[in-house]
Amino acid sequence: MTDHVLALNAGSSSLKFALYELVEDNRPSMRWRGQIERLGDAPRLLAQSAGGRSINEPLTDTKTHDEAIRAFLKMARENLPDIHVRAIGHRVVHGGAVFSEPVRIDDSVLDTLNGFIPFAPLHQPYSLAGIRAASAAFPGTTQVACFDTAFHRTHPWVNDTFALPQRFYEKGVRRYGFHGLSYDYISQKLQDIAPGLYEGRVVIAHLGNGASMCAVSGGRAVASTMGFSALDGLPMGTRSGQLDPGVVLYMMQQDGMTAEEIADTLYRKSGLLGLSGISSDMRTLLAADTPDARKAIEYYVFRIRRELGALSAALEGIDALVFTGGIGENSAAIRQMVCDGMRWIGIEMDKSRNADGGTVLSTDLSRVRILAIPTNEEMIIARAAARLA
Ligand code: ADP
Repeated sequence: MTDHVLALNAGSSSLKFALYELVEDNRPSMRWRGQIERLGDAPRLLAQSAGGRSINEPLTDTKTHDEAIRAFLKMARENLPDIHVRAIGHRVVHGGAVFSEPVRIDDSVLDTLNGFIPFAPLHQPYSLAGIRAASAAFPGTTQVACFDTAFHRTHPWVNDTFALPQRFYEKGVRRYGFHGLSYDYISQKLQDIAPGLYEGRVVIAHLGNGASMCAVSGGRAVASTMGFSALDGLPMGTRSGQLDPGVVLYMMQQDGMTAEEIADTLYRKSGLLGLSGISSDMRTLLAADTPDARKAIEYYVFRIRRELGALSAALEGIDALVFTGGIGENSAAIRQMVCDGMRWIGIEMDKSRNADGGTVLSTDLSRVRILAIPTNEEMIIARAAARLA
């Protein structure tokens, strides 16, 4: 029996997973990774092994989100008889102000995490559903929670608070920041490949369906574009990004929208989708070449540049800009547009390096180094699970 850890990332419509064998010094080495997509609808299991095998099949006889996750975990247990799962690590969206590190899950931790549902009502319940399903399928196995908020617990207080009456802060209304597992991975990767930059002032742009940016100094988070919820900051696939709170008051008072309608608009109908009227998917917009698609891209790029300026101010300078996430890793066009407007701050993209898609994208003379690094949130979860097993 070989020791393994399983990393789970349960979302509203998908469960991403990765299975790692623990090799020398408990280092996780990836064996399988994949996802169940269309949870609660027509779930399908897609997976690839490190050895090149692949699975693409429907998960029949499951109706609900929970049933599909349970069916997958049962299948994993039955089909991998030669492995011993030492720990299961979970991506948990919200760790509040309490958790700044991954933690072994017990009843009291679960109670605390339940208490954070009001902070992330659209996301936290899915994290908890993944934990419940994994505890039922693998009873007695160590479960570890890894938080999207944890990496940001080092923000100085000015980046942790809003200028509201103090009682809101006491209740937990703070600038938490998200995508922390991705920032943690990129930061650790920088320490390996460019220790000098790791020690410096780095802005990381995580540009996926969800998107945010984080200012990191010497490996510690200083500020993020996301605050209390996963709505703030950059426009995203379907989320609005930064919004004057007066707009929400207008929606309620003048448009007569309910809280649910406003949440639906801000989370599911805004961002790239809302502006373009076509799609939330950047590839589709880049290919569409319609005036509204171009406007959506222009707004997206403009907000990234604005935040880059703001985060550089929070760091009192910038030594490196790192792109990651589906758009940041793959779209040379978006990276080029962002950097074209940032020469004033010392950012100079090398066009052909950018088009070739290597790791270093800046010119040799650029004062700020530009990098593209694929993120790997599951690896951060697996390392934590291995450590705490
Ligand atoms: P998630 O946040 O769901 O993990 P991803 O990090 O996979 O999302 O990012 C998805 C986004 O990345 C989509 O908007 C997709 O169009 C975009 N994307 C992926 N590849 C490319 C590409 N080659 N060019 C432009 N955009 C891309």
